[in-house]
This record gives sequence, C-alpha cells and structure tokens, in this order.
Amino acid sequence: MLQVSHVTKTYGKTVACRDVSFHLDPGSVTVLLGPNGAGKSTIMKSIIGFLRYEGQITVAGFPNKSVEARRILGYVPELPALYPNLTVLEHMEFLARAYKMNNYKERINELLTRFELADKTKKFGDELSKGMQQKLNLCLGLLPSPQMLMMDEPMIGLDPHAIKQLKNMIEEMRAAGCTMLISTHIIDSVDMLWDRALIMQDGTIKADVTRPELDASGRTLEELFFEVTENVSREDMSHPGADGSESGAEDAGRGETA
Ligand code: ADP
Repeated sequence: MLQVSHVTKTYGKTVACRDVSFHLDPGSVTVLLGPNGAGKSTIMKSIIGFLRYEGQITVAGFPNKSVEARRILGYVPELPALYPNLTVLEHMEFLARAYKMNNYKERINELLTRFELADKTKKFGDELSKGMQQKLNLCLGLLPSPQMLMMDEPMIGLDPHAIKQLKNMIEEMRAAGCTMLISTHIIDSVDMLWDRALIMQDGTIKADVTRPELDASGRTLEELFFEVTENVSREDMSHPGADGSESGAEDAGRGETA
C-alpha cells in the first residue's frame, strides 16, 4: 500500500531522515517508534507531501503527491491546526464538503459523540481546551474514512476515555481494511494494536519487525526498543547493574534491518 524508498530529508545541516526505506502491507497497522527527534514526524510529513526530500514515495502505486494518492491518504498531525473563528461543527462540515462526502451528518455525529465533543459543537477552535483540540484534530482525520491513515502521536493529550475510543476505532478501521501508520514515543500506548513495528533513531530505521517475528524472538516490543536504541540486552534489563555490554551488542542484531 505504501512504499518509501531511500528517503533523505535535511533541514540545513540537520539530517532528519537518512536513506529511509520501508513498506506497509494493505490493511496492516504499523507503529513507528523512536525517541524525540528520531525523525518520525519528518517521515510522516514527507509521506503526506508537506516536505521536499530526496527519494521516492508511492501510495498504492501512485506518487504520494498525486491526486490519486491524496484521495487515499489521511493524516492526523501531531499539533492540531484549527481555525479560531470556526466552531467544532463548522470544522467538521467544512472538511466533509472539501472531501465531497455525502450524508456526512451521521458520521460527524458519531465521531463527536465517541470523543465527547457532541455538547461542544458550537464552541470555537480557540475556546477549546488542549485535550478537546486534540480530540477534534482526531475527528477531522477520521471523518473521511481514508484507505490509509497516518497519525502522528495521536494519544498525546487525550484522556483515558478518548484513548479507549481511539484504540477501538483503530481496531474497527483495521477490520474495515484501513492501512495505518501510527507514530509514538510511548510504547505502552500502542501494545496490542500493531502488526508491524518500525523503530527509528537518529533519522534511520533501526528495526523493522512483524509481530510474529518479534513473538518468535521471545522479546517484548519494549525490550527490542531498548536493545535497539540503547544497546541494552534482555539480560541487562532483568539484571540491572550487570555488565552485559557484549551480549547486548549481539542480541541487538536480531530483528534489525541491514
Ligand atoms: P520526531 O518526530 O521523531 O520527534 P522530528 O522528525 O520532529 O522527530 O525531528 C527530526 C530532526 O529534525 C530533529 O533533529 C529536529 O530538531 C529536526 N527538525 C524537525 N523539524 C525541523 C524544522 N522545521 N527545522 C529544522 N529542524 C527540524
């Protein structure tokens, strides 16, 4: 569904992504993990077509900046971009009309109810709390039911009810065949949800594993994350203070990309 090939993005002297390649299978949920500054947002903004970069990105075989790809791709940015002078309902209706959706009122109502915004429809963008802004941001990304959806740190700022709703929606969308790429730096927030995990650090993909591959290695996602990003082996984690630097280096090789 998505093919990212040798993408490099620099901001001045900072290399935010270096020769990044990966693919997403149709209908799969992929989590993009990595510490702050790893390059997660940059690769997502490259895929959605907001940035210039070196390399190739295709969506269902179409160049990512083509009209065809734009019809397929949806995006929930990390920071909500709301209009201060539009109400919650006006934001949703504006987007529905931009996507030429039919019979969108029921879908809008369903989303606003699920994310507890149904009683806030007349509030303006700048009257919403941070958490409410994030919920509206999510509702806007989910509204067109895109075939492929990217969400950049979607759990940040959400209350437990909204996190539960979002997890339910991710399961429902996967069942409906939606391909998803979800970035986070909080590993706990995505456990149980993913089919494939990509771990990024310093602008490169350090690990690319499917769930069966990780299960077969006997590791948890958290263990793999620390092996890859800190070169800490499972043995080190279960025996804090033990000097396992050599075994850590060996173990870190499993599940990594070349
Ligand atoms: P992440 O989403 O994993 O936290 P980012 O993609 O935001 O990481 O950032 C990757 C690197 O690119 C960081 O070093 C960051 O400082 C840099 N960066 C991101 N956006 C910009 C920008 N607009 N201008 C300059 N540097 C940027």
